[in-house]
Amino acid sequence: MTDQASNIYPDLTPAQRIDGKAFAAALRGDVAEGAARFQADRGRQPGLAVVLVGDDPASQVYVKTKMRQAAEAGIRSFPHLLPGSTSQDELLQLIAALNSNDEVDGILVQLPLPAQIEETAVIESIDPGKDVDGFNPVNVGRLSTGQSALVPCTPLGCLLLLQDRLGDLSGKKAVVVGRSNIVGKPMAQLLLNANCTVTTVHSRSRELAAECRSADILVVAVGRPEMVDASYIKPGAIVLDVGINRITRDDGQSRLTGDVDFEAVSTVAGAVTPVPGGIGPMTVACLLRNTLSAAQARAAR
Ligand code: NAP
Repeated sequence: MTDQASNIYPDLTPAQRIDGKAFAAALRGDVAEGAARFQADRGRQPGLAVVLVGDDPASQVYVKTKMRQAAEAGIRSFPHLLPGSTSQDELLQLIAALNSNDEVDGILVQLPLPAQIEETAVIESIDPGKDVDGFNPVNVGRLSTGQSALVPCTPLGCLLLLQDRLGDLSGKKAVVVGRSNIVGKPMAQLLLNANCTVTTVHSRSRELAAECRSADILVVAVGRPEMVDASYIKPGAIVLDVGINRITRDDGQSRLTGDVDFEAVSTVAGAVTPVPGGIGPMTVACLLRNTLSAAQARAAR
């Protein structure tokens, strides 16, 4: 805890720690039940194609986790582990084949892709009905016009945690720090759709801490270790920390940390997600949820 934090609001009780890991486990349980019902009705499991190009170690870990948790939830994985030299045409041909494979309900292409492949071309080539990452412009447009859509997994996980804690979000003041296509923008859109009053701030924003201090709900997705301290927080606010940063300690060991100084912020906020164990597990659980939703929607068509 910093001196600054402990002196701002001395009468506040420490924030609750939001257990994203436990919530994600329960969500995966719900998905497993839905997947079992789908299999009983349709005679096959929901299917998720997982495409990894190259041998980036972090991507390999993410893909392994996604396939393991898919298997545990009764979702069949179709892994495609391609060499880093794969051309854009080869990848687009694979996606075309997956688009027309009836056993594949969701297609996940792990990002980032090697330099010779244009991410936008790949995202746009995925059938919007199988776009379980929710990055295809058709789903982005559907989300922004309030139609049913496959929604990016990380902001969807944030929304589910918020609704679990607060119920109806109508009228809440929400501030989203960061405006990336995969987190910040869809997060702001989801909160707007849920009737919050939403402000998005970014690297060019002025009075960042003051903007954040106006928030009942603060979602931080920046990629800067522990940037948000107690001075950014309205007393009692709910703070969701999306950031995942690996930092090296003085003793040479590395550890994961978020974009929020958890201890300092806990002295002021009403509830905070930790890193690890907060939003990260929700992201994978929402990928499985999206896969089941895509399977159910395709079966209904
Ligand atoms: P990104 O594409 O790099 O976007 C970062 C955003 O933060 C940008 O909009 C940038 O503003 C803004 N920003 C940078 N410095 C800032 C500052 N000093 N003040 C205010 N805003 C600032 O990152 P991302 O993909 O959204 O990811 C953000 C973090 O979330 C990363 O740590 C990432 O690893 C993590 N993440 C976690 C999960 C999960 O499952 N938990 C999923 C996705 C991402 P400009 O637009 O003006 O440049």
